[in-house]
Amino acid sequence: MQAVLAAMAAHTILSFTGGAATHQPPLLFHLTNPTSPSSLWSSFHGVSLTLPRQFSSSAAALVSTSAPKPLTVVAATKKAVAVLKGTSSIQGVVTLSQEEDGPTTVSVKVTGLTPGKHGLHLHEYGDTTNGCISTGAHFNPKGLTHGAPEDDLRHAGDLGNVVANAEGVAEATIVDSQIPLGGPNSVVGRAFVVHELEDDLGKGGHELSLTTGNAGGRLACGVVGLTPL
Ligand SMILES: [Zn+2]
Repeated sequence: MQAVLAAMAAHTILSFTGGAATHQPPLLFHLTNPTSPSSLWSSFHGVSLTLPRQFSSSAAALVSTSAPKPLTVVAATKKAVAVLKGTSSIQGVVTLSQEEDGPTTVSVKVTGLTPGKHGLHLHEYGDTTNGCISTGAHFNPKGLTHGAPEDDLRHAGDLGNVVANAEGVAEATIVDSQIPLGGPNSVVGRAFVVHELEDDLGKGGHELSLTTGNAGGRLACGVVGLTPL
């Protein structure tokens, strides 16, 4: 049934564009207005105001029920990567993947850290002209205060902490719904930053708790860019 609908939709579109491309009178005109030339004017006004709209809406309905499947196969999965670098030996790789409009899965590995917790955030800008400082503040499209990933009140870029082991290696997998790889709040082109200190998740009572989590300096950062699937 879907194949039939798809064929119908494709046929309808082809017929319509074919008529327009060859500068023939619109197909609908022939179908719906088989009047003699002498009465074209009076009939044409009615036809042009009503039937093309009906045609458009029915064609859109057909397309919406049949076309999205092949389209979403192309755009179903998005993947991105950020390579973190700084002024020290600390470095890392963050990979991101998102299926359709679902949550984004983030895989993080950072090496060279001091053991313990380090804040990990997505910052607003993918600008590293002045090192990690020029990536701006935490990505915050909703204008909220800093928080934990599970909080309602949080920056979209608040991904909490990663924990480095005794060898200084932090690995984590984070699943989050506020950092899509497409749409108006896409994080593609923004930057990951790993911080010197633990993010207090907005609850530390420090003057910086509600803006940065008092996570200290920016050790390494990297711009999120699309990568092959
Ligand atoms: Zn924040």
